[in-house]
Amino acid sequence: MTYRHIFKPIQLRHTMLKNRIVFGAHTTNMSENGLPAEQHIAYYRERAIGGAAMIVVEPMPVHAAAVLTRGNFKHSDDEVIPHFCKLTDAIREHGAVAIQQLYHVGQHGDADNSYHANWSPSGMPSYHDSDGSHAMSSAEIEETIDGFVQAARRCKQAGFDGVEVWAAYHGFVDQFWTPWSNQRDDQWGGSLENRTRVSREIMSRIREVCGEDFIIGLAVSDEPDYEVMLTRDELAEIIALHDQQQLMDYVTCGVGGYLDFYKLIPTFLYPEKMGIDLAQLLKHTLQHSLVIAEAHIRTPDNAETVLSEGSSDLVSIVRGQIADPHLVNKAEQGRPEDVRGCLSCNQMCWGRRSRDYWISCLVNPSVGREWEWHGDRFQTSAKPKQVLVVGGGPAGLEAARVAAERGHQVTLAEAGSKLGGAFRLAGEQPRRGQILELIEWYERQLNKLQVDVRFNSYLDADDVIAETADEIILATGSLPAGNGFQKALPHLDPLPGFNSGKVFSVEEIMAREVRPGKRIIVFDEGGNWRGCGTAWKLAEDGHAVTIVTPDAMVAKELQRTAADFPLRKCLVQLGVTFVVESGILYWSETGAEIISFLSGETQMIEADAVVFATANRAFDDLARELSEREIRYQAIGDGVAPRQAPYAIYEGRKVALEL
Ligand code: ADP
Repeated sequence: MTYRHIFKPIQLRHTMLKNRIVFGAHTTNMSENGLPAEQHIAYYRERAIGGAAMIVVEPMPVHAAAVLTRGNFKHSDDEVIPHFCKLTDAIREHGAVAIQQLYHVGQHGDADNSYHANWSPSGMPSYHDSDGSHAMSSAEIEETIDGFVQAARRCKQAGFDGVEVWAAYHGFVDQFWTPWSNQRDDQWGGSLENRTRVSREIMSRIREVCGEDFIIGLAVSDEPDYEVMLTRDELAEIIALHDQQQLMDYVTCGVGGYLDFYKLIPTFLYPEKMGIDLAQLLKHTLQHSLVIAEAHIRTPDNAETVLSEGSSDLVSIVRGQIADPHLVNKAEQGRPEDVRGCLSCNQMCWGRRSRDYWISCLVNPSVGREWEWHGDRFQTSAKPKQVLVVGGGPAGLEAARVAAERGHQVTLAEAGSKLGGAFRLAGEQPRRGQILELIEWYERQLNKLQVDVRFNSYLDADDVIAETADEIILATGSLPAGNGFQKALPHLDPLPGFNSGKVFSVEEIMAREVRPGKRIIVFDEGGNWRGCGTAWKLAEDGHAVTIVTPDAMVAKELQRTAADFPLRKCLVQLGVTFVVESGILYWSETGAEIISFLSGETQMIEADAVVFATANRAFDDLARELSEREIRYQAIGDGVAPRQAPYAIYEGRKVALEL
């Protein structure tokens, strides 16, 4: 595909955007004491170097009641200005336009960080926690409007090209727009004119204070699944009103809202290109403002399709540019096959942000480490070496790639006939094909970098020594525990009946090495994709599946990634039954005796097989042999300790950067 539409510059108020790709606003949680520091600045700088035309720096609370995360910038304080200057310099130095988003979540605050009552139009409850909110007085509304205006003034003084007023996800501004949450009978509620007064006042006063050469954007979102939300047409009417009065220069369209958190940052359980319907409608309705489409656009091909169909003027790709900050440049250079694709897994971006850590990325461990790892670029080693990598799972693949990028001569030996290790099996789970695409990306990169990849090459200690490499990296992965051990029933080791047959590991099932029969119990101790994705695969293949878990809910760990509820829905629709807060007392070939940890009662569940999704053990035989023979090596990934994929890729990158 050629990217004719992506690389057509476009005028945005007084600035010319060099292409049509925006790095949209998202919380990175990287600030230190409310100020952007080295880590934060390097993160944004890398995306500017990578070619994004416009960078919308993350939501800035405009008032004490608007604080939502630990990493929010300091609100209402001019102290931020010199620090923001460093941020805008870093962005503008590389030719990107710098915008800051301004936000207030209204009723949906979070006292954990704000220690402030939630302020809202009509005192409705927060959907972030169990708190209620305070119906604002007119004076408090004025104070909040001024908060937006003063925040914009600081942005102007700090060198931002503009601000984006956030009226999305049912935040403060669209709470005023929405009759369900705005039941006021004063000048701020009732008629369309009254309900839009807050946003019109905010935007016209920002224009007055910040002047003509200042971009004002408006962020909105489409939530078609809740009756109480504005319909798409109602929303378009409101936005058109602002457009007629020329209050903003662009409008950016996301999906979902705090009533349905799962669509906000859609995982691979949702379709791609989600924000398009509203963008298309606005593109036909608005006279003055540019339209940006967001949400799950992910790739340059998707971006080009959206733009060429005329659905929007610009597209925002956030997770795609977290995963590969150089996505835009690679597309421009005609090598989209080199773009490392986002998996839409949310594991390290939203998954870390939801626990209030700084964001990173499963496929790109440099996220958040740009400041100490020289961005997401490589410095050629002064001393090229012969490097032997043993094992072609994610740890070995990343180590081999990065070592080769740095000019080392790399051999990768893999025991099997394919690359990817355990991650390939995860890619065989329903809708997880993006993992297989990532493995193909590694294959392409290793090929381009002339890594000597040897398949069907199980290396023992003698083989490793015979290679006479300067550096040995062991990435030998892990094996199933093989004893039916359950953390909640540690005395059952091994599980009674474990050896009576038809007890399988996730790996055996996903590699299709065994025929488990029709009725299957999946014992899931992790609450993540390992167990739940395997259960999903089995159910899709027509098996009658029961998930037994010691957790209070199925897919407990996937809550962090906003994947749990949509996944449970899929499982239930496929007839999967859930037995929670329970363990297995014994297995016989006809079924399992299950104990409820709540009541102590037991029941027999008839089944043809039981599958254990429990922690693996490190496969470190080779490491031990080499240690005994005093051969120097570095071990990474699951071969050190079984963990999730991001840590394997992180260690692969780290070890190769240090060679
Ligand atoms: P990680 O996530 O740490 O990369 P994986 O289990 O996904 O671990 O991958 C480990 C890979 O290493 C597997 O593909 C396995 O076949 C391979 N492997 C393990 N031991 C050896 C060995 N001695 N020689 C070659 N390949 C090996």
